[in-house]
Amino acid sequence: MQFSDFSLDKRLLQSLEHMGFTAPTEIQAQAMPVALAGKDLMASSKTGSGKTLAFLLPALQRMIRTKALSKKDPRALILLPTRELANQVYGQLRLLVANTQFKSISILGGENFNDQAKALARDPHFVVATPGRLADHLTHNHLYLNGLELLVLDEADRMLDLGFAEQLKAIHKAADHKRRQTLMFSATLDHQEINDIAAELLNSPEHVAIGAAN
Ligand code: ADP
Ligand code: MG
Repeated sequence: MQFSDFSLDKRLLQSLEHMGFTAPTEIQAQAMPVALAGKDLMASSKTGSGKTLAFLLPALQRMIRTKALSKKDPRALILLPTRELANQVYGQLRLLVANTQFKSISILGGENFNDQAKALARDPHFVVATPGRLADHLTHNHLYLNGLELLVLDEADRMLDLGFAEQLKAIHKAADHKRRQTLMFSATLDHQEINDIAAELLNSPEHVAIGAAN
């Protein structure tokens, strides 16, 4: 299987070529068709198996395809438990959006709050964030999530371990677009807390689990 077998915009295929990727990993091959079909997804696979592109490629494809669906930014929000993980995902997103018209920013704990408020006011299409800081900006009305079409919860188990359940629920409640798609990635899917948050935030999700959980 090749990335070109998916119905991806040619700009995304070009970016993948630049990044040196031709064939999808197993999690990408199984998760991408579900995400590209617009369905909610709960997915797990071990660290290093390529989960980032499994959600970034469908996220960008959806934004390219549904240009006019929502006029309110941000249209996609990707949440991660830590600054380090968020920076890694943001780095990959920057490479992929370079070839498109989309603006992306990161909103991470520990960075200047007022600078972030200004960046949010410039209506980015994509936001990569840690949940605590994003929830703070939501409380201050620095962003509105009612145009959000795609919510990604990456490393969901770690976000719950770090005590972000309330922030995730607040973000979910603010992101009430009726066509919102939600993708959840986790090292494991069989914890009670993961299933509780999925029951609240996801809509009839499909499950994809590759290999042993780590
Ligand atoms: P995970 O989130 O599952 O821990 P990452 O998305 O961080 O994994 O990917 C791990 C590494 O694999 C990264 O260095 C990434 O660039 C690389 N990678 C991702 N997809 C592919 C692919 N299809 N082919 C080759 N390398 C890939
Ligand atoms: Mg990852």
